[in-house]
Amino acid sequence: NTEEPWRPFNKSRLYMADLESTLHYSLRVELAAHTVIKGDALISFKKYISVLAKYFPGRPVVMNLLRSVNSHLQNQTGDEISYEELREMLDNPAQSPDTALPEGQRWVGCQGSKPYLRRYPCGVWTLFHVLTVQAKNAGGTDPKEVLTAMRNYVHNFFGCRPCAEHFENMARESLVEVSSLSSAVLWLWSRHNRVNNRLAGALSEDPSFPKIQWPSPEMCPACHTVRENGEHRWNDEQVLSFLMSYFSSKSILTDYLD
Ligand code: FAD
Repeated sequence: NTEEPWRPFNKSRLYMADLESTLHYSLRVELAAHTVIKGDALISFKKYISVLAKYFPGRPVVMNLLRSVNSHLQNQTGDEISYEELREMLDNPAQSPDTALPEGQRWVGCQGSKPYLRRYPCGVWTLFHVLTVQAKNAGGTDPKEVLTAMRNYVHNFFGCRPCAEHFENMARESLVEVSSLSSAVLWLWSRHNRVNNRLAGALSEDPSFPKIQWPSPEMCPACHTVRENGEHRWNDEQVLSFLMSYFSSKSILTDYLD
């Protein structure tokens, strides 16, 4: 039996173990499917790493690793990079020993009730929300920087191809509307809810984690308003402040890390 023991967790909190597991899976599993990375994919990959190096709210060892990979990539002038070279940067960074990305997946808030449910895709959404919130906190200059980096990462590398196609369609349709760091945070939240809406009741839904229009009224009463005609409305201002607090680096729990 290879199933891991269940890790008890608080459903309304974020865990660094999920974010690090997502980085591990993205960089050591998903990217490993590409023997060489070149052209548009290489540009996307460099931008993805640069956004992570800038905004990932990681532990010092992990930040050292992301910055080290980022500076390697920015100095790399060739028109392609092999996965083997990338793997070398990840596993034997020059400034070891306080530079590392922990190996392996240790899902906590993204655990699924079955091994094929939740996990990495849940981690990707979580990472993306965290990055849009960190970019707003850091006062970045380009409101679309993080969303464009994600869009291109998903388009070039995300293993779930139908997901990538759906996400690209949403981006093509409305990413232009994003004109501020706040609207970037809200754009990702509202697109994620569209995906939840489409997937509610689908086979990919974990029965223990039903797809809802998030956050629920229990999590954020002020986010929800009901008009006189009974129609539900989001209070975007309240949603934004909820997201800024929920995904803030201060709220990330470090349970289950080594
Ligand atoms: P997830 O939807 O993965 O959400 C993770 C956590 O984020 C939730 O537990 C909750 O705490 C929080 N959350 C939920 N909603 C929001 C919100 N609106 N804003 C902020 N936080 C929220 N699967 C398909 O079958 N078809 C697809 O087309 C598809 N497209 C995808 C596109 C992308 C870019 C990604 C990253 C994933 C996609 N997936 C798709 C996977 C799917 O969306 C879920 O990630 C997966 O089913 C696991 O669901 P989950 O219950 O862990 O919750």
